[in-house]
Amino acid sequence: MNEQQFTPILQTLILLSPSQRQRLHQALAKSETSTEEVLTTQFTLQKCPHCLGTQLKPWGSSHGLPRYRCAACLKTSNPLTKTPLARLRQPDKWLVYAQALIDGLSIRKAAVLCNIDKNTAFLWRHRFLTMIKSHQALHEEGIVEADETFFLESFKGQRHLSRPARKRGGVGKTRGTSDDQIPVLVVRDRHKSTVTVILEKVDAAHVKAVLAPLVDKDSVLCTDGAAVYSSFCKATGIKHEVIPSKGPRARGAFHIQNVNAFDSRLKEWMRRFHGVATKYLANYLGWRRVLERYQAIRPDILFFEAVRRKPQQLIQT
Ligand SMILES: [Zn+2]
Repeated sequence: MNEQQFTPILQTLILLSPSQRQRLHQALAKSETSTEEVLTTQFTLQKCPHCLGTQLKPWGSSHGLPRYRCAACLKTSNPLTKTPLARLRQPDKWLVYAQALIDGLSIRKAAVLCNIDKNTAFLWRHRFLTMIKSHQALHEEGIVEADETFFLESFKGQRHLSRPARKRGGVGKTRGTSDDQIPVLVVRDRHKSTVTVILEKVDAAHVKAVLAPLVDKDSVLCTDGAAVYSSFCKATGIKHEVIPSKGPRARGAFHIQNVNAFDSRLKEWMRRFHGVATKYLANYLGWRRVLERYQAIRPDILFFEAVRRKPQQLIQT
């Protein structure tokens, strides 16, 4: 529910009688899904995270999580063992935190919402995103669009800078190709399967390393015609449709408007962070992709994305 829908509901609460208030209170308590409930009912451990054995026996619980013991290696584990959320405290607040990630709240606002301190909110953000950043499409087919976008290099939060500090979210020396711009290759097909990869360099070898295992041989690759894409298509025999940046924006079904629109949404959404540290850029890209992957993402879905090695499903229709 968005703010516009929620505000009128909030305003009508004043009209409730004492007994209606009580009923509302009960209904809210009932509708709230606790992290523990999610973990115990929807997230059972199939394999031992230590030896991958399948003979797991229930072994009580600890810290609000069900515990198992493996008949083969005798080690105990819980559904979060060996995930980025293992040993994080205050599990009762994780789903609320997942909602903060969905809403793209700042560290400060997320900390207030969950009643945790700012350092914890920061730690949780990147723990939640550790797995999510690796969840991206493995295959693109049909009409596939590719383009590069750039992010200003940032040493935000680091003590020792190799250059004088720049005002936060500042402007680089030149657009596009200077040393202080980090290139990201965005690839998206018409099923909305999306890949964003930080490139060490925008050259034929690095672009090919991303596209070759990803793009189906029968695809048509739409780009702005940069040489890196032409050379990839020439080498692989994949059909190349060039839509020059000057001129008509589409030729029939061939255009790069989906990657461009994705990039605009990404940049607009990232503005709230006032420049992100380059060492965390992949986390933010994964965060944006998971928000786009679902039509209506819920806290429990985001939570599962944060603890699973593989995404739940790449596209939700
Ligand atoms: Zn085991």
